[in-house]
Amino acid sequence: MRYASIVPDIAARAIDGSFDYYVPAGLEQSCLVGTTVLVSFGRRDVVGYVIARTDEPADGVDASRVLPVKQVLAAPSFDQVGARLAEWMAREYAAPLALCLRLMLPPGQTMKVAREDGGSWQLVIERARAVDDRWVSLTESAEGFEPRANARRQLRVLEALEAGPQRMAELSALVPGASSVVSALLKRGVVSVEHRRRIRGSGDEGSSLSSASAPRPQRLTDGQRAALDAIAGAVGHERGDVVLVDGVTGSGKTEVYLDAIERVRAHGRSAIVLVPEISLTAQTVGRFRSRFGDDVAILHSRLSVGERFDQWDMARSGRAHVVVGARSALFAPLSNVGLIVVDEEHEGSYKQDQAPRYHAREAAAELARLRGAALVLGSATPSLESLERCRRGLWHDASWTRVEMPERPGGAVLPRVRVVDMKREFAAKNGSIFSRALRDALLGVAERREKAVLMLNRRGFASFLMCRECGCVPTCTHCSTSLTYHERTHSLVCHSCGRSWPVRAFPDPSTKCPNCGSRYLAQFGVGTQRVEDELRVLLEGAEVDVIRMDADTTATKGAHTKLLERFDASPCAVLVGTQMIAKGLDFPEVTLVGVVNADTTLKLPDFRAAERTYHLLEQVAGRAGRGERPGEVIVQTYWATHPAIQAVARHDRSLFERYELEQREEAYYPPYSRLANVTVTGVGESAVRERCKALADAVRDAVAGPESEGRRRVAAGAAGAAARGAEFTSGPAQTSLFASPQAAIPAPPEFAWPGVPELPDGWEVLGPAECVKARVKDRLRRHIVVKAPVEADLGPLLAHAAATLPQDRKVTVSIDIDAYDMM
Ligand code: ADP
Ligand code: ZN
Ligand code: ZN
Repeated sequence: MRYASIVPDIAARAIDGSFDYYVPAGLEQSCLVGTTVLVSFGRRDVVGYVIARTDEPADGVDASRVLPVKQVLAAPSFDQVGARLAEWMAREYAAPLALCLRLMLPPGQTMKVAREDGGSWQLVIERARAVDDRWVSLTESAEGFEPRANARRQLRVLEALEAGPQRMAELSALVPGASSVVSALLKRGVVSVEHRRRIRGSGDEGSSLSSASAPRPQRLTDGQRAALDAIAGAVGHERGDVVLVDGVTGSGKTEVYLDAIERVRAHGRSAIVLVPEISLTAQTVGRFRSRFGDDVAILHSRLSVGERFDQWDMARSGRAHVVVGARSALFAPLSNVGLIVVDEEHEGSYKQDQAPRYHAREAAAELARLRGAALVLGSATPSLESLERCRRGLWHDASWTRVEMPERPGGAVLPRVRVVDMKREFAAKNGSIFSRALRDALLGVAERREKAVLMLNRRGFASFLMCRECGCVPTCTHCSTSLTYHERTHSLVCHSCGRSWPVRAFPDPSTKCPNCGSRYLAQFGVGTQRVEDELRVLLEGAEVDVIRMDADTTATKGAHTKLLERFDASPCAVLVGTQMIAKGLDFPEVTLVGVVNADTTLKLPDFRAAERTYHLLEQVAGRAGRGERPGEVIVQTYWATHPAIQAVARHDRSLFERYELEQREEAYYPPYSRLANVTVTGVGESAVRERCKALADAVRDAVAGPESEGRRRVAAGAAGAAARGAEFTSGPAQTSLFASPQAAIPAPPEFAWPGVPELPDGWEVLGPAECVKARVKDRLRRHIVVKAPVEADLGPLLAHAAATLPQDRKVTVSIDIDAYDMM
């Protein structure tokens, strides 16, 4: 084993992959798979990661020219399987391998090295901001030290230390930037730093929430037992089998995870539990802690780097065998993993929004296969993708089984859901945010001294044409996505395919809705602040604690927990908030859930808009009636008949599923296809346009295959549309844009992509088109959308297409495979 395959950490798509190095005798024992090392690359010394050890260099590599590994910088942070997972991610998501490996490094480890006095190199570790126990004190040589007169921060630090040793954290609070001052002083021998090891991040989520330490139930429900049996089978198969626990909110899914982990632990194996960041609340953490105590390591982004490191290290050192965390906890250095749980598997936040753009559910499935573990997915509203795989039963050589848990333990019943049609409120001259029904219900909660949750669906930033009286929004014929309104050009634009339609009259004040004649064509949307204000007016004098929870009020560390604790402790309160209140809260005293505006997300120009809205409503509805008193849910909407809303109202998911699957199949979206969103951003308009066009051509060529070159179709027409036999209608622009609430309007006659090659069946390349978010931070954004058969190997294809284009520093290309953010 004289050689090592090493991935240099260089952020350039062109230099991706591993290179062979020679391992000098002195490093034989330490240069292991998973270590971080220093190697020469080109003319520089760079940091790299060892992904394999071999006896011989790879074929075709001249052994005499192989360079040596210079130094081992850090102990292993991943094993063989970790390396294989990173390689899989790099391929699957067309991402640089080094970026995938970075996910597996200890929290705080950087790509930078600094030279020590002795001449050896050290990794720069970012842990200075930890709530740490580093004590700084003056050394003897401090006496003779003369700070420069203008080094004010240095002076202040020295002054502070004269009174005696100080904790680094306190110094930093006293003198901004103290830590860099201390580093400088340390180098000169003026101060010394003493570390006192403490496991950070273990104690401070301690919470007084009543439900944070749920006791073990006396007996399991039938559904829970069935789920545990299925999980036991999957664990026993040791080949990555998947169990989808499809249980209504409050059916006891978390209890199932706890029991399943207990069983796996009894066999000496460990477990990883992924929870969406947003629902990684004190409640969830408390339940795992109360069952597994210090055997649990918690990883999430609200911890400081130092805290995260200590938690991570608990897993690596074998002190903790259960890791609970957000997305990245999947890469925790646990050995002998027998079970992986992905809770709320439908959550979009499992998709990372920067490279590597992996989906944690998919990476978890791959990791379960590689480790011979079982994967448990849990949700009250599973993704259509997971449901489809369970229908097939087999996916990538693993079995997929769905277990239903339709009931809540102890006979708690699902809440009654009332849908309020806001068009009628409007007609009845009620211009308030609250419908009469919601107003009465809120007053009732105040009178009975109960609790309510009021959710505001955050408004999409895109603008739509929507009629306040009939609620219609036009959609693109080809893409089934809502058209957005562009003020500057007075046009309606489809941001999937780039088609656009002129809108003549809007927003002329005399404009009427062609469907119903209404003059109220408007964008609407209110903020949480305004809801809070109206609520205070409504409940004046009733002594109700109104608590607002949104991005503003939860910006500081611990604020989220504090607000929830206040809500928990208050005898009578209303919690007002954005989507963040929908998830994971378990307060038995909540008897009313109000959704102020159910449909703002229903109309976003994204094929998952309806699914997301359905999930959100179902989740938030599940917050009501979890205790003894029955709950009520009031959903305010302009689109009361939409299947997503009706399914929630009637507790019948099939209503939504049937409708949505039909839409998806017709428009060839997942789960019937795979989809990638390739975005080009840059400052210069022409550079972005040209690169996006070139990229679209390259992708079309790559999809069409080499033999198709030279027989590009010159005739006007769309590649994708042709593949599916869709038709363009010609004729003058339509006047009846608002024919029906789901009005699809015909494509404009002038639309064409010239010079497009013919694509094989099941492939479509749409665009280039401007993104919905056409400009972000002064960068222009255009994109192409690629649809492919479900089994297609999209990653390598798109990576190859992108690599055929010459380097251009003016633009950034990002490839998002199985994209969740289409905007
Ligand atoms: P979910 O994760 O599906 O929303 P939870 O596991 O949070 O459901 O369970 C909801 C509530 O029911 C919790 O308070 C939990 O302690 C309780 N619970 C779970 N299983 C049982 C059971 N078998 N018997 C009684 N109570 C249970
Ligand atoms: Zn109308
Ligand atoms: Zn379109």
